[in-house]
Amino acid sequence: MNPCPRCGGTDVIERKFGFFAKIGLAMVVVFFFLSFLIPALGIGGVIVGLVFLVFAPFARQYYHCKSCNRLFKLRS
Ligand SMILES: [Zn+2]
Repeated sequence: MNPCPRCGGTDVIERKFGFFAKIGLAMVVVFFFLSFLIPALGIGGVIVGLVFLVFAPFARQYYHCKSCNRLFKLRS
């Protein structure tokens, strides 16, 4: 297990690209319905969500420290 670079804690969990894909998917769904109410904001949000989805597979593996709530990635 990799320790946290900030606090040295070992209570670290992995965040793989599926995590970012879920965020993107959630954003697309939420902003899609929001676009019926506020079209400009909704469409903008859908685009941002799609960007998340497109780039999710390219995201490096991230780690999340549960002790200090820091998101970091390791250099290999
Ligand atoms: Zn930490």
